[in-house]
Amino acid sequence: MIGGGRAWPIAGAAFVAAIGGVFIGRAVLPAAPRPGAALHDLVHHRLSLDSAQQIALDRLEQRFAVRRTVLERELRADNARLAAAIAAEHGNGPGVIAAVDRSHAAMGELQKATLAHVFAMRQLLRPDQAALFDQAVVKALTDDAR
Ligand SMILES: [Zn+2]
Repeated sequence: MIGGGRAWPIAGAAFVAAIGGVFIGRAVLPAAPRPGAALHDLVHHRLSLDSAQQIALDRLEQRFAVRRTVLERELRADNARLAAAIAAEHGNGPGVIAAVDRSHAAMGELQKATLAHVFAMRQLLRPDQAALFDQAVVKALTDDAR
């Protein structure tokens, strides 16, 4: 029989709740949102775009920025709900599982929106630029996998 056997799960739950909010916020958020950073650097700075391409690109970026802001806000709200569920259920309860599913859905939406944006950017490119872009896509994906 261990005297402190009762205190431990409570301390453990508080610990999990405290860490959960931070850890999950970090784990969920930065992983998804900016996988296209290297691609943006390429498109915006290293492919010499003509002025028509530049205008079209600016328009795409504005549209994507709006969409991304909405989805990131959704993700943050999902993370807050997840942290609250962890604090309330002290573990892997149904509220936690539902919150995780929700945040995965929002994350998936963000990834789809990002991919759609990446392909929309590609559509603006000339074939010689698109070839460089494709190389950068492969590199970005294989770098992320590591
Ligand atoms: Zn872009």
